[in-house]
Order: sequence, then C-alpha cells, then structure tokens
Amino acid sequence: MSERVIPLVDQRQPALPLPAPVAADSGLLLDALGRPLRDLRISVTDRCNFRCSYCMPKEVFDAQHHFLPHAELLSFEEITRLARVFVAQGVQKIRLTGGEPLLRKNIERLVEMLATLRTPEGQLLDLTLTTNGSLLARKARALKDAGLQRITVSLDALDDAIFQRMNDVGFPVAEVLNGIEVAKAAGLAPIKVNMVVKRGLNDHEVLPMARHFHGTGIALRFIEYMDVGATNGWRMDEVLPSRELLARLQHEFQLEPLEPSAPGETAERWGHADGGGEIGLISSVTQAFCGDCNRARLSTEGRLYLCLFAHAGHDLRSLMRGGADDGRIAGTLAAIWRGRHDRYSQLRASGVAFGGEARKVEMHYIGG
Ligand code: SAM
Ligand code: SF4
Ligand code: SF4
Repeated sequence: MSERVIPLVDQRQPALPLPAPVAADSGLLLDALGRPLRDLRISVTDRCNFRCSYCMPKEVFDAQHHFLPHAELLSFEEITRLARVFVAQGVQKIRLTGGEPLLRKNIERLVEMLATLRTPEGQLLDLTLTTNGSLLARKARALKDAGLQRITVSLDALDDAIFQRMNDVGFPVAEVLNGIEVAKAAGLAPIKVNMVVKRGLNDHEVLPMARHFHGTGIALRFIEYMDVGATNGWRMDEVLPSRELLARLQHEFQLEPLEPSAPGETAERWGHADGGGEIGLISSVTQAFCGDCNRARLSTEGRLYLCLFAHAGHDLRSLMRGGADDGRIAGTLAAIWRGRHDRYSQLRASGVAFGGEARKVEMHYIGG
C-alpha cells in the first residue's frame, strides 16, 4: 500500500526582520513592481470546524495539532488599529477570513469596529467575509447589523456524499444552503459562492452547481485547486484548468465575457446571456494574476504576508506590543510594501524553480 507522506506543520516560522520605517505619507504607496496596496485579508482564527482535504487535512490537523493559544491572537482592538494604519496607506477592501472566521467569539463586534473606518477620501470600506457557511444561519443578521456588506460562502458540491467527503466532518449541504438563504434574507449582498474544483473528486459537480445558482443573483466562482501550504499533497493532475471548466459550462450555457469590476480582481467574470447572473473563474494555477496583485494578508497572530505562497511574514504584533506608535507602524508597513516583489504564480507558470526547503505558510493561518 502506498502512503502519502505529510510533513508536520509548524505555522510559526521565524518572522522576517522588520525594515527601518520610511516616510509613510508620500502619496500612493507602490511595491517594487509598481502595485498599490488595496486589499487586506485578515485571518481571525487558525481554527476550523471543517477538515477540507485541500486545506486542513484531518491526518495533520488532528487532536495533537497545536492551534494558537488565545493570547497569541491579535485582539479586536489590535486588528482595528492595524487595519486603520493599512487603510491610511491605501487599503480600500477588507476581507475577514481564517480558519473559519465565524468561530471567533463575538466576530460581529470586530465587524462593527472595522465598519467605522474610512479611507483618506472619507469613503466606506468594502467590508466582507469568507465563511464555510456552517454558522451563517445563526450569525447573518448580527453580521449585517454590525455593518458587514456582503459575504462569500464556500461550497464545493451539491451532492451530500461528495460534500461530506470534502469537508471530512460529515457536514450536510442543506445547512450551508440554508445559511446562504438566511444571509440573503438579512440583506447581505451581493453573495458569492466559492467552489474549489479538484479533478476526480468534485469536477462532475460543476454543472449541477452552475444550474443551481443560475438566475439566483448569486455569483458562483470556480477556484482552481492550489498548491498552498505544505500539507494537502497537491498534484497538478488534480487541477481542472479554468479553460477546460469553461468549455464544459459552454456546452450548456451561453456565456459572455464581462469586464473586471475592480483592478486586481482575482476572478475572470462571465455573464449568462439570458440575464441569469454571472460566474467567475479563479485561475490561480493556470493563469497567473500577480501582475496587478494588490493583496496583503495579516495572519491570526499579526504577521504580515505579502503573498499567499509566502514562506514567512513580518511580525507586526511584536512591533505593536513593543510600544510602537501608529506613525512607526505606518512607516514600517510602507517600507515592507515598497520592498515587495512577490509573484509566485507567475514564476510557477514560467517554470522557475524556487522555494527550496522553506515551507509555504498554510492557508487557514493566513486566510484565502
Ligand atoms: N473557512 C472559510 C471558508 O472555507 O470559506 C474561510 C477560509 S478558507 C482558507 C478561504 C477560501 O480558500 C475558501 O473558499 C477555500 O475553499 C479556499 N481554499 C482553501 N484551500 C484551497 C486550495 N488548496 N486551493 C484553492 N482554494 C482553497
Ligand atoms: Fe476550514 Fe475553510 Fe480550510 Fe475548509 S477551506 S478547512 S472550511 S478554513
Ligand atoms: Fe498575489 Fe502571490 Fe497570488 Fe501572485 S501568487 S497573485 S503575488 S498572492
């Protein structure tokens, strides 16, 4: 019998050294490749009640796995303080993620705090959250009341047996669908649904999912199974390239390409010609979109990661807990962002070997 070898995960790699702060108030902050900082993804917990095989395989994230103790997590006040500094430096969109963000106690309180932030031009932030939907029916109303505008729900299949195999904790499809309905009724809009597609596991669910969400006003986005982290045993032959997926959809639906709704958007958008809404293709493996990647990620314990595939992050929590004022944090952030030249997917696509022995960070720890 062949056994898959899964390396043990230590999320806490040594932090990258913090650069000396630079002046942070000199107009638009650009990285070394000319990309602005616009989008901040904040992981509010490294814990999850699912064990999706592509993200937190059960064999690794078991009873022996050490999740971060509460004192290591950024508090809501710390998250809001850092978010304010990021917003002053150009961030316009904040996504709460995890792990499963709805597992973080009183998450609606954090939403309420973040909803008070404004861009330097006085605009509201685009504030959203990605969830597996398991607790959504219970939380949707409180999240909306706290100021959350929209939501993304992950759902990988409509077939219960397949979905339960993928979440690996026996969670039923019906409860996620109910969570989506409750979120809709609470006024969270627009709602997006993310489906990670793994060839041979759930790719025959692509058409049933597309049929189900056609005409509902909910945008279904298909995500190529990615080689994030070091535990999911990723193989290229399990990726269903978006081009192939699109061809399957086009057998049944008439689809027209749509313009991106924002610069740096991850999904390629296609509209149903009959007016039945849109679908999105997130081709993180086969079509690199690093060229205009404007996303930063803040881990559960306050490390700043410049790429989903990074090997290490900058420890902003120590800086903050060490007594740095907002000006120093802003200057440090500006220095880090100006030095950014990450473009993992682009390099992977061009066949450049890199990474060596260093282990990539896990997705549930820095968020999707
Ligand atoms: N627990 C929440 C959820 O599942 O929506 C939020 C965190 S999860 C890490 C964020 C997104 O990343 C989800 O849509 C999930 O499907 C996606 N994801 C996780 N591992 C992935 C992988 N290996 N390839 C592609 N997408 C992945
Ligand atoms: Fe949990 Fe989301 Fe990862 Fe699935 S994808 S294990 S729901 S964090
Ligand atoms: Fe951005 Fe890194 Fe993804 Fe490229 S690989 S799009 S730089 S997160």
